[in-house]
Amino acid sequence: VHLRIQDLNRLISDLTSFVMPELDEQHVALRLELQDYLPRLSLDENLMKQVLLNLIKNAMNAMEPQGGILTVSTKLVGNVVHLKVSDTGTGIKPEHLSKIFEPYFTTKSSGTGLGLTVVFKIIKEHGGDISVSSEPGRGTTFTMIFPVPRSEWMT
Ligand code: ADP
Ligand code: MG
Repeated sequence: VHLRIQDLNRLISDLTSFVMPELDEQHVALRLELQDYLPRLSLDENLMKQVLLNLIKNAMNAMEPQGGILTVSTKLVGNVVHLKVSDTGTGIKPEHLSKIFEPYFTTKSSGTGLGLTVVFKIIKEHGGDISVSSEPGRGTTFTMIFPVPRSEWMT
């Protein structure tokens, strides 16, 4: 893990423009709701891109084939930053919610069930946390929380 103080919003802009062609192809509209003047965070850029890619891939799968809306948002809440990735896809059955971060849990015919396990591990390595809320038939939201490094605290 190579943590470096950097701009999460820029990382999100870069990654989402990279996947834009695929989103277009899958009829997925992207909404970015990135808070202005977000404090910088201590992040491993490559690992965080892996997190976003995994969450976006899952969101796209959940909205196949009709497409939908993918929302990525950032917000400063007290002295932590919230990063949310939401989709308007199938949602997750209540009985599956407690299993999705477990290795090899998948509901896909050719899934590995490792994506969210990796995401969880990476978020923990950042001193953060991740939670999920989902409504079957309406969609899913993953919320990640990151500590703001002391050097970036507003005075
Ligand atoms: P995989 O994508 O290989 O199945 P993951 O660890 O990425 O493995 O996800 C595990 C399971 O969690 C998926 O198979 C799916 O059932 C559920 N899941 C994850 N993200 C979403 C989402 N955005 N919408 C609906 N279900 C999801
Ligand atoms: Mg996956």
